[in-house]
Amino acid sequence: IANMSHDIRTPLTGLLGMAQIIQNRSTDRETQHDANLLISSAEELLNLFNEIIELVQIESGHIKEKREDFALFNLIQHNINLLMPAAKHKHVSLDMRISADVPEYLNANKILLDRIILNLLSNAIKFTEQGSVVLYANLSKADTDNLLLEIVVEDTGIGIPKDKQDVIFDHFSRLNPSYQGLYKGSGLGLYTVKRYLDVLEGDIRVESQVGKGSRFTFTIPV
Ligand code: ADP
Repeated sequence: IANMSHDIRTPLTGLLGMAQIIQNRSTDRETQHDANLLISSAEELLNLFNEIIELVQIESGHIKEKREDFALFNLIQHNINLLMPAAKHKHVSLDMRISADVPEYLNANKILLDRIILNLLSNAIKFTEQGSVVLYANLSKADTDNLLLEIVVEDTGIGIPKDKQDVIFDHFSRLNPSYQGLYKGSGLGLYTVKRYLDVLEGDIRVESQVGKGSRFTFTIPV
C-alpha cells in the first residue's frame, strides 16, 4: 500500500481539483451544491487514505525514534492555530496552559509528538458541542537522565462510557459510526496515537464521564 500510495493519491487529488474548478466556475446553485458534495466526499476519502498510509508506515516499522531539540510552546501553538477555525465555528474555546517548570526547549521526537497532539485536540473539538478544550503541559516526574513530559487534553464534550474507554484505542473503533451521521472519522486516530506512543516509550490514559467531558493524559520521556 505504501508503495502505491502515489498512484491512489494522484487521481483522487485530480477529482478533488476538478470538483473545485466546477464549483468556482459555476453560477448555478444546484451545480455548486453538487460540486460541494463531491469535494467533501473526495476530501473524506483522501483523509482516510492518509490515515491508512500513516498506519501502514508504523506497522511496517518505518517510523523510528528520532530525537531533536524543539520549542514546545511553538509546537502546541501551531496546532492550536490550525484548529482554532474549527473551534470558533462551534463556539468552543481552545486554550493551552504550559506550567512554569517546563523548559522552553525539549529534546524528543518532535514529529510524532506533533501528530499525537493534533489527533487528541481534533478529537476533543470534534466531540465537544459547547464549553472548552484545554491542553495542559506539565513535568510529572524525573529520573537522572530523563524528565517526563505530561500532556493533558481536556474537553467538556459528550464523554465516553466507562465500559468503552479501552475499546476506543482499537483500530477502526468508533462509538458513533458514520451511518449515524453525527461525527466523521475512521476510528484510526487513537490507535495511531497509541502506536506512536509505543515508539516513544510513552503512555496514555483516559478519564471521562458521559455528558461531562473527557481528559486524555499522555506522558513521554524527554
Ligand atoms: P475517529 O475520531 O476517527 O472516530 P479515534 O480513534 O480518534 O477515531 O477515536 C475513536 C472513538 O473514540 C471516536 O469515534 C469516539 O467515539 C471516541 N472518542 C475519541 N476522543 C473522544 C473525545 N474527546 N470525546 C468523546 N469521544 C471520543
